[in-house]
Amino acid sequence: MTNRYFKQILLEEIGGEGQKRLNGSSAVVAGCGALGSVICNSLVRAGVGRVTIVDRDFIELDNLPRQMLFDEEDIKRGLPKAIAAAEKLRRINSEITVVPVVADLTVENIEKIIKGSDVVLDGMDNFETRFLINDACVKLGIPWIYGGVVATYGMSFSIIPGETPCLRCFINELPGPGSTPTCDTVGVLGTAVNMVGSIEVTEGLKILLGKYDLLIKKLVYIDVWQGIWNLYEIKKDANRCSVCDDRKFSFLDQKKGTRLTSLCGQNAIQVSPPASAGVSFHDLALRLQPHGEVSYNDYMLRFTIKPYEFTVFHDGRTIIKGITDESEAKILFSKYIGV
Ligand SMILES: [Zn+2]
Repeated sequence: MTNRYFKQILLEEIGGEGQKRLNGSSAVVAGCGALGSVICNSLVRAGVGRVTIVDRDFIELDNLPRQMLFDEEDIKRGLPKAIAAAEKLRRINSEITVVPVVADLTVENIEKIIKGSDVVLDGMDNFETRFLINDACVKLGIPWIYGGVVATYGMSFSIIPGETPCLRCFINELPGPGSTPTCDTVGVLGTAVNMVGSIEVTEGLKILLGKYDLLIKKLVYIDVWQGIWNLYEIKKDANRCSVCDDRKFSFLDQKKGTRLTSLCGQNAIQVSPPASAGVSFHDLALRLQPHGEVSYNDYMLRFTIKPYEFTVFHDGRTIIKGITDESEAKILFSKYIGV
C-alpha cells in the first residue's frame, strides 16, 4: 500500500525518521481565520500528530475568499471556525488528532492550552493576543512562530525562548488603536496569506524535526504584489527585555474578570465574562424568546433584537454586533445574557 507520506519521506529534509517525529509531535494554532486555515491545513496534511486549533469566531461570507477550510455550507450550519475546521481536517487526515477549542485565548486558559505542545503558530489578527502568546511561550519555554499579513504583504519570525529575541524584544509596546493598518481597514489578499502561512509552517516543521540550526533566524518580509522577499536581522539591543530578560509577564498577569474587546472593523464588541459553569442554550433561549429571534445549535446561540445581533458561546463569551461603544455593550450583555 502506498505510504501517505511517501513524498515527504523522499525529501532529504524530512526522511523516514523525520516523518515519524512529525507523527509524534504536537502543535497549537492560535486563531483559525485566513492564516490559521493555511497553517492547520498544511500541518494536518504533513502528518503532525496532534493539532490543536483555538478560535473564538464564527464563519461569515466575507471570510470565504481567503479562509480555505470553510465553505457556504459551514455558514448555513452556523458553525464556529474551530469546529468547521476540525471537521474538514479530520476528513483530510483521519490518522492524526485534531482538537478544536472554541474560545478566546486569555490569561485564564492559554497556559493550559499550550502546555506540553512542541510549537505554537500565530494565526491571530491582534497584537494584544500575540503579546499574551509571547508571555506564555517564553514562560513555558515553548517555541512559537509569529506571523501577520495585511493587504499584499506580511512577515514572520521564529521565536525560540532563551535562544532568539522574543516578540517584545523588537515590538516593545502595543500599537495604539487605529495606528496600524488592519485587514478590516485596507483589506487583504489571500495569496499573501498563503505565503506567510507557508513560511510559518515550514519554520514550524523544522522545530518539530529538531532542526533548530536550519531556522531562518531573521524576520521574513514578503510582498506578493511587488515581488519582494527580504530578510531583516533582528538583534537584541542593549535594553533589557521585560519578558525574556526579566521574566515579567505583564500580559499573563492581567487581572481576571469581565473583558471587553472591540472587534475592529466588524462593528462588534466581544464581552468575555470570567470562567463559569457554562451556559445552557435551552434555558437562555426560553428566556430570550419573548424579546427577539433566537436559534441555537450545539456550539452557539444567536439572538437578534434589532439593531443588535448576539452570538453566545458555551463559556458565556458573547459577540454583540451593531455596536461600538463598550459601556453600552456591557449594559446590553447584563440585560439579556447576564452571567
Ligand atoms: Zn524579549
